Amino acid sequence: MDKVHVFNAGPCLLPQVVYDHAIEAIKDFKGTGVSLLSISHRTKEWEAIMDETRTLWKELLDIPEGYEVVFLGGGASMQFLYVAMNYLERKAAYLETGVWARKALKEAAGLGNAYAIASSADKNYTYIPKGYEIPKDLDYLHITTNNTIYGTEIKHDMDCPVPLIADMSSDILSRRVDVSKYEMIYGGAQKNAGPAGVAFAIIRKDTLGKVSRYLPTMLDYRVHIDKGSMFNTPPVFSIYIMNETLKWVKALGGVDVMHKMDVRKADTLYAEIDRNSLFRGTAVKEDRSIMNVCFVMTEGNEALSEDFLAFSKERGIVGIKGHRSVGGFRASLYNACSQEDVDVLVKAMQDFESSKK
Ligand SMILES: *Cc1c(COP(=O)(O)O)cnc(C)c1O
Repeated sequence: MDKVHVFNAGPCLLPQVVYDHAIEAIKDFKGTGVSLLSISHRTKEWEAIMDETRTLWKELLDIPEGYEVVFLGGGASMQFLYVAMNYLERKAAYLETGVWARKALKEAAGLGNAYAIASSADKNYTYIPKGYEIPKDLDYLHITTNNTIYGTEIKHDMDCPVPLIADMSSDILSRRVDVSKYEMIYGGAQKNAGPAGVAFAIIRKDTLGKVSRYLPTMLDYRVHIDKGSMFNTPPVFSIYIMNETLKWVKALGGVDVMHKMDVRKADTLYAEIDRNSLFRGTAVKEDRSIMNVCFVMTEGNEALSEDFLAFSKERGIVGIKGHRSVGGFRASLYNACSQEDVDVLVKAMQDFESSKK
């Protein structure tokens, strides 16, 4: 198989060393003679992995005292419900920046008073709404920091007068985050932190338990904090791969180093999109995501889309077809995607342009 360049939006490309270690662990977990897929989660070897994974999160994101990290099944989509269950009492607001934000809002609206405080639906979510007033009486404001489908991103930690809750599924570990500005942060691991099958949640402990509704055991964050994410059988394999992915991030120098590499990759690709007469970006420039780069053919050239997909496929480029709601192309430049991968894509865009002259 020739070298492929993977730009999948999720599950994401992971570092080669992570795949290699996974294979070893499936054969023999830590010299126990038992496969990772069959070890008991109640062994000390596994407990050590859980502890290390929590510690890695705390180190990499510089998580302050008073916060806990939990790992849960059900993906980010299940966190939409957890958030509403654990924090919504009187009223919550959601910044509607895309389909994921809308799905998060839907769960909250099903449980109580939740509404969209601002929306960019009028322009198919190609920008981040700004200048909206945040009422002081909200239980929380929910944001989606990176909009995976549309390629927009909130690239700073906003000052918020009410508790701030963020879905960071697709830009976690791509920049330094001031965790103290958030009530909680969550995401599915499969966009930048590991494989599918596990979600992470970073939770400020002292603000839990303020809602009056009955919380089913499995939907109560306090249960998972108390039990160290082992109230029931955790997704052992997914957590192990997440652990390996975090170790890789740490070994390369942490999130600041990731950020530098991610910005360079994104700048390279956006520069080509802006230069190339056949392509244009879909997100407004100031809100462009460094993780998911969305672009389409310029006006009059739309018919070349399929052509370009075939042209790039011949060069081993995989996963750049845009989401059906945006069309065109989307290149996801998560941490394990290399500058070389991006350079190959840029070269394909250049050669494609030349071939049409
Ligand atoms: C992919 C994604 C989700 C959904 O994640 P699942 O783990 O599949 O439920 C939610 N939010 C964002 C921002 C995403 O990119």
